Amino acid sequence: MPPANPSPSADMAAPSYPEGTQVAVLLPLPLAGAYDYRVPAGCTVCDGQAVRVPLGRRQETGIVWGAGRSGLDPAKIRPLQAVLDHAAPLPEVTRRFVDWVAAYTLSLPGAVLKMVIPVPEALDPPAAQVAWRLSGAEVPGLRQTPARDRVLRTLQTGVPMTTPDLAREAGVSPSVIKGLAEAGLLAEVPFAMDPDLPEPDGDHPGPTLSPVQADAAKELVLALGQGYSATLLEGVTGSGKTEVYFEAIAAALRQGQQVLVLVPEITLTTQWLGRFRRRFGADPAVWHSDLTPARRRRTWRAIADGRARVVVGARSALFLPYQALGLIVVDEEHEVAFKQEEGVIYHARDMAVVRAHLGNIPVVLASATPSLETVANVEAGRYIKVDLPVRHAGATLPTIDLIDIRRFPPEKGDWGQSWLSPPLVTALERTLEAGEQAMLFLNRRGYAPLTLCRTCGHRVQCPQCTAWLVEHRRLGKLQCHHCGHQQPLPKVCPSCGAEDALVACGPGVERVAEEASRRFPQARVELVASDTLAGPQGIAGLLERIERKEVDLLIGTQVLAKGLHFPMLTLVGIVDADLGLSGGDLRAAERTFQVLSQVAGRAGRGERPGRVMVQTFQPDHPVLQAMATGDMRAFREAESEGRRLLRMPPFGRLVAVIVSGETADAVESVARALARQAPQGAGLEVLGPAPAPLALLRGRHRWRLLLKAPREVRVQTVVRQWLGGVACPSAVRIQVDIDPYSFL
Ligand code: ADP
Ligand code: ZN
Repeated sequence: MPPANPSPSADMAAPSYPEGTQVAVLLPLPLAGAYDYRVPAGCTVCDGQAVRVPLGRRQETGIVWGAGRSGLDPAKIRPLQAVLDHAAPLPEVTRRFVDWVAAYTLSLPGAVLKMVIPVPEALDPPAAQVAWRLSGAEVPGLRQTPARDRVLRTLQTGVPMTTPDLAREAGVSPSVIKGLAEAGLLAEVPFAMDPDLPEPDGDHPGPTLSPVQADAAKELVLALGQGYSATLLEGVTGSGKTEVYFEAIAAALRQGQQVLVLVPEITLTTQWLGRFRRRFGADPAVWHSDLTPARRRRTWRAIADGRARVVVGARSALFLPYQALGLIVVDEEHEVAFKQEEGVIYHARDMAVVRAHLGNIPVVLASATPSLETVANVEAGRYIKVDLPVRHAGATLPTIDLIDIRRFPPEKGDWGQSWLSPPLVTALERTLEAGEQAMLFLNRRGYAPLTLCRTCGHRVQCPQCTAWLVEHRRLGKLQCHHCGHQQPLPKVCPSCGAEDALVACGPGVERVAEEASRRFPQARVELVASDTLAGPQGIAGLLERIERKEVDLLIGTQVLAKGLHFPMLTLVGIVDADLGLSGGDLRAAERTFQVLSQVAGRAGRGERPGRVMVQTFQPDHPVLQAMATGDMRAFREAESEGRRLLRMPPFGRLVAVIVSGETADAVESVARALARQAPQGAGLEVLGPAPAPLALLRGRHRWRLLLKAPREVRVQTVVRQWLGGVACPSAVRIQVDIDPYSFL
């Protein structure tokens, strides 16, 4: 949902505060607000500056956040303890963004600031390191070794090097360097700088764009430096969206700006990074939660002082303190992964639009299957739309066939139950015989989603969640996909004690892989799911094997759906297209359509045409009809109409209120109290309270309420008043989710 208009950046020098005045300091901690401190003698600070302050008996790093509130007893105000003035002050736009996001999501500003400064140590001066150079001294009688020779030769270039760098370069252990230093052959040079970053080059030559692509790129480029604008870049998979927004990045680089590219999941961008490197001659700075602490500190500083020119990251990268941000790109803008569901609950795509507005810069939202929210914003004239209607270089879109499972049920094999229907099996055989690659998609990790006792009917459940345990046969374990609980596969039924009575029900990718290996024993089958990939390296290795054609049949979950490009992949089978369609989720149909289209988009991206086969029990469902006919517009219109009638997003607003705690009674009574105090007003409606579908999660009981409001209503005010009027014991937690995407 597009937030209400924030005011664009006011270009003023940050006010400064002389000694003796009081300043507010916001700490990256879940506190109610900023605290006041006194500027000590001989000091001047300005807004955005990092300072050390006393908090109780601790010291914390915080940020100067405007003048102090007046009217406090000056005797009680403690002085700042230090000003970290080697760090650039947080830009004004970043501070306004923090306040805006906190107000919109009803979060504590300190919790949002924590996302800006996820590594407070980055504000400390970079640790002074020691580098070595040749001392020039003669040390007669020193024992020569090949390792010592290599160190001395490495330093002959004259460039001082730190111990780790020198050890790596010379291929010696640090003790060799230490020995030479003690012998007096090496001299210390102080060395405090972060290493230089490679700089992506805006003038590096790119591919020649087709006329349609060139037109699209031109629109994006023209928007640079022209203040705020939001543009939807819509184009089928393979139409060249990435190449087109690369042009805008190139132009922003030439204009000396920083660029942020938000992607749904950073670990899946190996191919993207390779393309970026080819296009710009250097790597971008990468930001995600798995970076080592040292890497995070360095990258943070490079972003804050503007040396990192292009940053690609997961949603959390949006909050970093860019010094000169000139363009934001949100790739795959429709992806649910942009919604953060814990802590500060926000949607990174929506907040990217806010950030662009506050910073007075353009934002580009790219997708083959844009969200209804974004489409509604285009239709209302709030966003510009740029189309890429065809696949690049004449690659055709794959043909899509629906297979009605009721008419073509899978035939049982000697391995037991099976999941691949005869038409799909035949198509797989032909593809493999032709030496092409195929992919089977099922959005369910593990072997089987349910384990059932044949004797008593018991279903094995998570002890902490309202959820069945999923069998992971490779690991020999049952796992909860909500809380991570694991247990070994029981030998006997936990309920009736019957032996050998537990049976796996339904398919997960492991089970489909088992069937495929039995049906096509010659084929090299590879299973891909988020839990079978060992990080970015695992993915890079897999991609290489696929490109070298060492894999014939790929079987996987949604990780396979994301932006990958395999020229020899000509057949995609969707094992269970109905999976996402059930359940009471507002966006179930939309999301299924997006995932299926994205998976389908993997087929036929090279010279050979692709084919997609979709197994379903409900071939007449509008989502599947839209896929089969390729009539995306009809689907979107039908879906929009439905939401408009119900005044659901994007035509109305929703706020979810989740009450949770360890004691069921206490949770229920708070939920009921909230319902009794439900806000009244034109168009306001509160649904619930009701136990959440995940009524127990990680051992906490959960109830939900849902506030529905017209678009014009400022729901934050309504919710703040509502919650303020209800007493809540400390053992019960009330969580507010503005614009919810999860209804579990
Ligand atoms: P999308 O992001 O829309 O799925 P991509 O930008 O990934 O599309 O383009 C699909 C493929 O076509 C990529 O391999 C890309 O390198 C190639 N491609 C797209 N446009 C061009 C172009 N103008 N010249 C050369 N290759 C292109
Ligand atoms: Zn669980």
